[in-house]
Amino acid sequence: MNLDDTIVAIATPPGRGGIGVVRLAGPQAREIALPMLRLKSDLEVGRTVFGELIEPCGAGTPARHMPRNANKDEGSAEGPTPELSAVGFSRAGAPAPQEPPPRIDEVVVTYFAKPHSYTTDDIVEISAHGSPVVLRHIVELCIAAGARLAEPGEFTMRAFLNGRIDLTQAEAVRDLIEAQTLYQAKLDGALSRRLQPIKQKLVELIALLEAGIDFAEDDVSVLPDATIVQNIESVRGPLQELAASFAYGKIVHEGLTLAIVGRPNVGKSSLFNCLVERERAIVTATPGTTRDLVTETVAIGGIPIKLVDTAGIRHALDEAESIGVRKSMEALADADLVLVVLDASRPRSAEDDELLGQVADRPRIIVESKSDLAGPAREIDTEPGAVNREGHGFSRADSQQDEDRALAPGGNCIRTSALTGEGVPELRTEILRQVGGEAGGQAETGFLTNVRHQGLVRDSLAALEAATNAVAGKVPHEMLLLDLYGALRPLDAITGATTPDDILNLIFSTFCIGK
Ligand code: GDP
Repeated sequence: MNLDDTIVAIATPPGRGGIGVVRLAGPQAREIALPMLRLKSDLEVGRTVFGELIEPCGAGTPARHMPRNANKDEGSAEGPTPELSAVGFSRAGAPAPQEPPPRIDEVVVTYFAKPHSYTTDDIVEISAHGSPVVLRHIVELCIAAGARLAEPGEFTMRAFLNGRIDLTQAEAVRDLIEAQTLYQAKLDGALSRRLQPIKQKLVELIALLEAGIDFAEDDVSVLPDATIVQNIESVRGPLQELAASFAYGKIVHEGLTLAIVGRPNVGKSSLFNCLVERERAIVTATPGTTRDLVTETVAIGGIPIKLVDTAGIRHALDEAESIGVRKSMEALADADLVLVVLDASRPRSAEDDELLGQVADRPRIIVESKSDLAGPAREIDTEPGAVNREGHGFSRADSQQDEDRALAPGGNCIRTSALTGEGVPELRTEILRQVGGEAGGQAETGFLTNVRHQGLVRDSLAALEAATNAVAGKVPHEMLLLDLYGALRPLDAITGATTPDDILNLIFSTFCIGK
């Protein structure tokens, strides 16, 4: 990849918006940008300059400054906009040999000089109004003047290749941009913070052993094997915990899918709406109406959870319904977590039991819906399939009800009412508990969220195991150090490199060598 050319791209998301930014990075950034800008003043490092976007008159045309004195005929059709007048601009103010090129847009331009910029190149950022047409035009003008369209992520890649950020920081930029919840965004740097003290212990152990070898004549005592093993363990333990956080980290990073399944009319869509907190799925009193999957992503405890409302699972009455049921079964199979909804106001049916059997060995939560109808003293409605059209569902006093409830397998059965909201907070908590498991508490301390980091932590652990074996095998410390460096390198690849100087400094600051 060529690092010496000047690259350009629209930095703001596609679509229309209040403002849009075009970023130009490379040695010719200024040269390329200036001819299309009529600025209030010269570009200055780290300063934003107000101006106008114009058609460049020709390659190499120097920047034309906007005159500072407002012209008397400000109000004319040719005059500046009120905003420009306010800051003392006038298009007609300069004695131009020819008609000045018309303004395309008002812009604010920021200049970051090499090496103090995101990529370490010269960078010019042109903020125009967020019109895709204008932004594309700026990019086209830049390309016509010699810039190259940046590849996706190329600005950050340049920052990395030019040594301004390490791989983990580059990954953090990507993760921050892709974060769907604030919780995810806040994870930035948490892994490095968690790893740093672990790595420090390893570096200290390496320094101790290095000192023992290199400065034996300075009376640096050689560590007893038991202490070495103890030190290795103090690195290995927390690293193992970190490795175990991957499953949860992956969920926090990528989110998960939760399928809401159950017989028709048990209240799946109503529950879905409660969780989504707005009327998303169509709630009807006629069984078998949700025939397609309805999905919505919500943040529960900062974790993006894709809720899938499915068609009621039963022996279908027609072809359309049977397609719906098939899709439901597929959604059930694909889901990370299944929410089985049973109607608390009705006795459990054979179809409910069938469904419960199907999810018996899956991560699942059993919900008894319509708890508001399930009280003991209720109007009896024994008509099978009877529905209260006002949307109040069924009322049924069934002596078997409580018994049914107690039989719900899994133990994690939650009673909810979409009508009163009862049990919904508990349901959210249970979802979070199922998702987070024990790792949930590590949220603030950082965890592994990507496969590359997981692989590196595993490599480090394997090297630490080899080191423990090496101590047991009484191999010389020079050999043992190879394993310890083997454990350090993968951690370096996550948090940034440990240099030989770091280790030497530690040796000299810890032991009074060479006094
Ligand atoms: P789905 O077919 O399983 O998605 O069920 P719906 O959410 O469409 O609900 C079916 C019927 O039950 C509708 O008439 C709802 O108004 C009613 N219903 C759903 N949840 C509750 C609840 O918690 N309490 C009461 N009383 N009625 C409910």
